[in-house]
Amino acid sequence: MGRVDKGVKCSVAGCNSEAVRSVAFKKAGEAGLRLSGEARRAYLCEAHYKEFKKARRNVDRIERMRWKP
Ligand SMILES: [Zn+2]
Repeated sequence: MGRVDKGVKCSVAGCNSEAVRSVAFKKAGEAGLRLSGEARRAYLCEAHYKEFKKARRNVDRIERMRWKP
């Protein structure tokens, strides 16, 4: 998780909020966020970062369940 320079906009399609966090583009896509364009990093505003964290928790849980003996 990285910090973001001031003035950078959220990468989610249709969102014009200022980004507060950057995450790996692939992970943001896996979390179900609709991103505009393609880049190495995805920049997320506060609201979408919360959504991302929530979605990642679900992904991690599913992966853990899959690995249970
Ligand atoms: Zn956003």
